[in-house]
Amino acid sequence: MDLRLDGKVALVTGASGGLGRHFAGVLAAAGATVVLAARRTEKLAEAVEEIGPGRAHAVPLDVTDPTSVTAAFEAAEAATGAVVDVLVNNAGLAKTAPALETSPQDWRTVLDTNLTGAFHVATEAAARMKAAGRAGSIVNIASIVGLRPAGAVASYAASKAGLIHLTKALALELARDDVRVNALAPGYIETDINAAFFATDAGQKLIKRIPQRRLGRMSDLDAPLLMLCSDASAFMTGAVVPVDGGHLVSSL
Ligand code: NAD
Repeated sequence: MDLRLDGKVALVTGASGGLGRHFAGVLAAAGATVVLAARRTEKLAEAVEEIGPGRAHAVPLDVTDPTSVTAAFEAAEAATGAVVDVLVNNAGLAKTAPALETSPQDWRTVLDTNLTGAFHVATEAAARMKAAGRAGSIVNIASIVGLRPAGAVASYAASKAGLIHLTKALALELARDDVRVNALAPGYIETDINAAFFATDAGQKLIKRIPQRRLGRMSDLDAPLLMLCSDASAFMTGAVVPVDGGHLVSSL
């Protein structure tokens, strides 16, 4: 079993903070040359410095803009001298509101980013892997909410359910080209952004509904991510891997 990524180029979208920044560090530690992609590259400078110049590169990317997606892959190839072998499709956002109070604009923003954006990035990556005749691994960062709904996040849940089905459709179409497409479906993972909420009564109540009675740590995702990115999962494609402390199997 080989979880190493030596000699591979990995691109992570939405890498300026949160899970994306963490994933870039994990992939670099496994030996990959990483390309951190985000709308504001100035926010990536520190991460590139920390990972190590030469082993990390920053490229501008707005996943909702197909022209920006193509330009990001061109910049990644120019910086690394190679085609991207591993894509972590991580960029995403949520708008919290009951379905009947979700504006058309918010619905579009969530779907444009989490589903259509992920489609643009995955197909751009796969086309380049295929043209270069290289095996590739695409990991879409979904959510357990794409498998089982939660209240007040209908747009997010629909986008992640769509991303899970897109994962399977792309896996089917790309299998013969040796491009694997899988999804990682995290449960509730503590990050800087949600830490304050989980400290509240409502947050604590939510944690009590998770069978393991705790939030996920970013590090809980490391091994599953490396498994899906590396040759360790050579015979896996179209799979959805939940990492959620048992949240999906919580008691009805
Ligand atoms: P986050 O908000 O810290 O990170 C999301 C990143 O995506 C940000 O850097 C943001 O700038 C970027 N992004 C948003 N729109 C973009 C666009 N148009 N183009 C390029 N980048 C864009 O949140 P996070 O918690 O780190 O989430 C990362 C991914 O993990 C998301 O897809 C999210 O849905 C998923 N996820 C997170 C959790 C969790 O508990 N934190 C659970 C399940 C799934």
